[in-house]
Amino acid sequence: MTQNPQQPEVNIGLVGHVDHGKTTLVQALSGSWTDQHSEEMKRGISIRLGYADATFRQIPGVDPPECYTVDETDEDGNETDVLRTVSFVDAPGHETLMATMLSGAAIMDGAVLVVSATEEVPQAQTEEHLMALDIIGIDNIVVAQNKVDLVDRDRAVENYEQIQEFVKGTVAEDAPIVPISAQQEVNVDLLIDAIEREIPTPERDETKAARMFTARSFDINRPGTTWEDLSGGVIGGSVVEGKLSEGEELELRPGREVDEGGQTEWRPITTDIRSLQAGGQMTDEVRPGGLCGVGTGLDPSLTKGDALAGQVAGEPGTLPPTREEFVMAVDLLERVVGEDEEEIEEISTGEPLMLTVGTATTVGAVTSARSGEAEVSLKRPVCAAEGAKIAINRRVGARWRLIGIGTLK
Ligand code: GDP
Ligand code: MG
Repeated sequence: MTQNPQQPEVNIGLVGHVDHGKTTLVQALSGSWTDQHSEEMKRGISIRLGYADATFRQIPGVDPPECYTVDETDEDGNETDVLRTVSFVDAPGHETLMATMLSGAAIMDGAVLVVSATEEVPQAQTEEHLMALDIIGIDNIVVAQNKVDLVDRDRAVENYEQIQEFVKGTVAEDAPIVPISAQQEVNVDLLIDAIEREIPTPERDETKAARMFTARSFDINRPGTTWEDLSGGVIGGSVVEGKLSEGEELELRPGREVDEGGQTEWRPITTDIRSLQAGGQMTDEVRPGGLCGVGTGLDPSLTKGDALAGQVAGEPGTLPPTREEFVMAVDLLERVVGEDEEEIEEISTGEPLMLTVGTATTVGAVTSARSGEAEVSLKRPVCAAEGAKIAINRRVGARWRLIGIGTLK
């Protein structure tokens, strides 16, 4: 992986149906193959979603959009100017991985919806992912009409019109549609141009208390490491507000379940920040944008195997409450997205729901369903503030389907 000149400042999701070319596009833009993140995983910065940083550059003296590139030098070997470093979060398109896509959406500032020109529009996850962006409120979207190298001009135009028709009335209504070939690296400049215009780096308030969404956690020690060489547990995720600095104290919520005299309760964990990684390098400060790895003083058995994924981290005493149950306002979709297009029935008391809150996914039982509102009791608690958006999934047949959005009351 090439070294990026600066920390990433914005997270861009790659969404869309399986095989439409998301991973290939990330590779074209970043030079890394997001499906193979074992090396990154070892370094503790990757997440279950594929992930890669890319630096957008500009060739001096050339007009837009031709000036945009990811290459460090132009054709004559002259250095290009750095615009900004971005992070791509590559969502899996497979239908069973919707929960992963939704928890990834919690850290996306914008998204590129990849649609293959070789298939009818929309395919199931093209529609479901766009719906997810819509309800989570991600409205900075660029549509990449991919694989145009595989179709003739008429088919490309027909497909383009299908995409236009499909996005009408959705959050992507005004999104630019850029025909590209990720594999042949055609129109990459036009795509960067569109991303630069449509997905700006959000304004960040650094004086706010730090808030990090944890997407992974690891034990980075090799088996057999003796105690004096043990490294503390590592958490990976994205800072969404404020900044983290080495040496600071860190609180994680909900924390861990403790059992005392037959009573179990969830208690926040506190630790300190021993090391920080962002943009592929060690650093002493991490700001919003991109994924980061945080080396902590925690017992690595606590962080092993993603045990702390879905937790919220930040300055002690500043985090939202831990909730084992909550009431949410419910806004149901009109119909189940996908091939079957069934109507969605009201939520009923007693039914199980899969809820995604931030990067946390938990199952809850509905203890009381009223019109426009539901009270749920969670198997695993979540840390979330009032007003937090909740993706609501119901079991339909063999899988969980997105049925609506909740707002925490
Ligand atoms: P993902 O499931 O959306 O991540 O799709 P992948 O990036 O894994 O791509 C699926 C297949 O389509 C792979 O075999 C790619 O090589 C191929 N592919 C992706 N983009 C293009 C393209 O622009 N043109 C052509 N011809 N093939 C492509
Ligand atoms: Mg992929």
